[in-house]
Amino acid sequence: MRMTRLLARTLRETPKEAEVVSHQLLVRGGYIRQVASGIYNLLPLMWRVVQKINTIVRDELDTAGCQELLMPILQPADLWKESGRWDVYGKELVRLKDRHDRECVLAPTHEEVITDIARKELTSYRLLPQNLYQIQLKYRDEQRPRFGLLRGREFMMKDAYSFHASNACLDDEYERMATAYTNIFNRCGLETVMVRSDSGAIGGSESHEFMVLTHIAEGEQESGENVVFYCDSCDYAANAERAESQAKPATLNGPEGTSELIATPNATSIEALHKDFGFEPSLILKSLVYVVDEEKPVLALICGHMDVEETKLKNALAANTIRMATADEITAWTGSSKGFIGPINLPANITVVADANTEALTNFYVAENEPGLHRIKANWGTDVPKPSTFLDIRLVQVGDGCPSCESGALKETRGIEVGNIFKLGTKYSESLSATYTAEDGTEQPFIMGCYGIGITRTAAAAIECFHDKDGMLWPMAIAPYHAMIIPVNPSDEAQMALATQVYERLKPLNIEAVLDDRDERAGVKFKDADLMGFPIRITAGKKAAEGLLECKMRGDTTAQDLTLEQALAWAQEQFKTWTPRVTPTPELVAAK
Ligand code: ATP
Ligand code: MG
Repeated sequence: MRMTRLLARTLRETPKEAEVVSHQLLVRGGYIRQVASGIYNLLPLMWRVVQKINTIVRDELDTAGCQELLMPILQPADLWKESGRWDVYGKELVRLKDRHDRECVLAPTHEEVITDIARKELTSYRLLPQNLYQIQLKYRDEQRPRFGLLRGREFMMKDAYSFHASNACLDDEYERMATAYTNIFNRCGLETVMVRSDSGAIGGSESHEFMVLTHIAEGEQESGENVVFYCDSCDYAANAERAESQAKPATLNGPEGTSELIATPNATSIEALHKDFGFEPSLILKSLVYVVDEEKPVLALICGHMDVEETKLKNALAANTIRMATADEITAWTGSSKGFIGPINLPANITVVADANTEALTNFYVAENEPGLHRIKANWGTDVPKPSTFLDIRLVQVGDGCPSCESGALKETRGIEVGNIFKLGTKYSESLSATYTAEDGTEQPFIMGCYGIGITRTAAAAIECFHDKDGMLWPMAIAPYHAMIIPVNPSDEAQMALATQVYERLKPLNIEAVLDDRDERAGVKFKDADLMGFPIRITAGKKAAEGLLECKMRGDTTAQDLTLEQALAWAQEQFKTWTPRVTPTPELVAAK
């Protein structure tokens, strides 16, 4: 490709709406352009990256025995009503009507349609197992589309779905997919960590996420939206929404005595109760009011030095949405005021959920559910109604004991979720009555798994990992082009001839190059080459008259002078072995 023909206009200024590095560089490098919030044109350079990732994905999945197909984006609402997700999916689901007034959706994911295929086509156990995948656009009206390709409203996903006659068969496939995913990300030049995750709205029993750990330089915006906790001595790693731990020891038993009320005016926070009244935070039974599915009030109870993990709480309540109640809602429901809500004399319509750590509390502090009053030396049963169950709704903390090896301590890092795998079980096959005839002649629901990879997000994650102040540093396998050939002065015959020769000779070696044949200043060409981030850079400058080319890899500070033949051999070697030098070494990776 000649630069004069390439559609890739670079920008010197950082677009102001772009917060994270990948978004900034993709816009500046002429890879993407925004059409609307969270919706982008993938220009030729970006599309090449996407296709390279897709080729790797296809190769690994086909090797693992999966089959590719293509399902529609526009789908009838009926299937979504049948599965029940029409009602529960929320505002992320794009709903529309066709000209006949029929309700439709733009698919955010494809469980409904694939299960419909299975119930029609996979009639017998003889046809199982099956793993079907597609690479397709997805639509989600995300509440906060941001970070460019990392969280769009339209994005490209590889989604695979497997169908089995037994759980053991699903377990095997799950393992095979975990291996395929690790291979895919490795081949893309990315190191990922597989972490246990919450199964969320999609349902099912077990799930893992593949995280690229972010390593943010000073002054850069954090792009890893997921908090990951991991053990410093074993391989336990889990998303914060799912992580378990053994809490650090804390005082849970207060001095014995008779329970009494004391005035605590203006002390509406744990800090204030501690500072003004000497209450030990771990001995305070903290009460938080939430609104579940926009209608039901819930009181969550947790030790004062701990925090509620809202996804855990949402799952404990089998809810679709959850948010903290406003001060007005709290007053309307309890008659008390924010800061003084407690599990005492609560209206019956308020559900109480207590964290497992609170069960051991004795002689503790608790708000009396009346403004300005707290009870001290309170106990379950006598002063506070004891909940029938105590559940894990707590956000684990750095330094907590590892739940797996029991000798390590948990640490925290942040990551970008590039893929995930789920054991769905029979959630969709049951709701959509998708069955096959088993060996014994009975009709059985399929046991299902599903497996996603964010293709466009993976590309952006690679830039989050590999960039410097001048631009991108693409891993060889997913770089849009492998090499940039720069004749410093295209009107200099020797330079242009030598540059053109390298360019032509690289083609049969499968090294894809761009020849910067623009009549531009050298500085501009070098800046653009750094920004666009192709791995190999070969420059024909003053020494072209002696038959020498300046060769260097993106990120190297010095170049070497090589003859044409030497340059070709060098390029071939780099093509096979090079990896970007700014490989981040987050603690977790280093520890392994
Ligand atoms: P997230 O928690 O980040 O919203 P998710 O759990 O909703 O992700 P899935 O529905 O499992 O994600 O989708 C599979 C993959 O698609 C994710 O692992 C992620 O890589 C990618 N993905 C999800 N939402 C987006 C988005 N809005 N933009 C780009 N990629 C996305
Ligand atoms: Mg999501």
